[in-house]
Amino acid sequence: MNVAHELAPARAQLEKLARPLGFVPTMGALHAGHMRLVEAARAQCKSVAVSLFVNPMQFGPQEDFERYPRDFEADNEKLAAAGVDLLFAPETATIYPPDFSTFVDVGKLGTRFEGAARPTHFRGVATVVAKLLHMLEPDVLYLGQKDAQQTAVLTRLVRDLNFTTRVEIVETVREPDGLALSSRNAYLTGPERAAAPTLYAALQTMLKEIQAGKSVEEAREAAVRVLSPQARLEYLNLVDASSFSRLQTLRPPAFLVGAARFGRTRLLDNLWIRT
Ligand code: AMP
Repeated sequence: MNVAHELAPARAQLEKLARPLGFVPTMGALHAGHMRLVEAARAQCKSVAVSLFVNPMQFGPQEDFERYPRDFEADNEKLAAAGVDLLFAPETATIYPPDFSTFVDVGKLGTRFEGAARPTHFRGVATVVAKLLHMLEPDVLYLGQKDAQQTAVLTRLVRDLNFTTRVEIVETVREPDGLALSSRNAYLTGPERAAAPTLYAALQTMLKEIQAGKSVEEAREAAVRVLSPQARLEYLNLVDASSFSRLQTLRPPAFLVGAARFGRTRLLDNLWIRT
């Protein structure tokens, strides 16, 4: 595997790679969820590039940018073992020169749910992914269902800004007890970790109740009862998969999305209802 920290050597390597090129953007601290995206890219494309960049623009001023887990050596080994062709791990100045001032505005979609909780988050995500797509020019972009609203934002970005890249969404990888894998799970204390799978259980209950004919509101109430008392729920809603506007009846493709705090750690999860 080649490792490049700057654009010119990354592009020199990319020129030698066979197409189609699959691309997996990450913030590192890689776990089996990230690796599932790499496996999908490896299976479907001739070459695979992964980026590793903890993007300061997608963190709010009070968020965990400084303490976000970083382990470059371990990530490097995992990606090399998975047969990745190129690891692009730029320095912040490579992505954002000192007078950087141009951003991608994702509109209303970026103001709902995660965007309401984190007002500059999707602007930061969309800006860095647009830049990475320009820099690496991949054929297929691999995204995790785990970050459902991000898949909607980036699918729209690709369409609205005429990138030729195709988007592939890969299903969420979970722990045996249902907790979605996340780099932020490392922040959980023992009791928080024990309570965390109730977010997934709540989403499953909500889906079951809706499918049994209950109203979305009744289903939501049943789901809230499944959540651990330790969880501080932020939202639990049925939404359209591309606009993220709320649905009162099940109309696929849709997501059931949830976010809750366990102690200081904010966790997200969702169920993808495709048909
Ligand atoms: P991150 O490093 O958190 O920016 O995530 C990089 C990519 O991995 C994103 O497309 C995420 O949606 C995806 N991802 C994170 N966790 C999981 C998971 N548990 N299952 C599948 N994909 C995931």
